[in-house]
Amino acid sequence: MRGTKKRDLPEKTCPVCGRPFRWRKKWEKDWEAVTYCSERCRSRAKAARRTGAS
Ligand SMILES: [Zn+2]
Repeated sequence: MRGTKKRDLPEKTCPVCGRPFRWRKKWEKDWEAVTYCSERCRSRAKAARRTGAS
């Protein structure tokens, strides 16, 4: 058997940078609410929303 279950951490794709990111301990409580890989991407998405609407 090969180690299928090494660390089966959930994964999401960041809509801003398009990169997959994995569950982190600090998101333990609100992983479901986490959308972006980092604070940076989060604020970036917000900024884009603000100016992107035309
Ligand atoms: Zn990102």
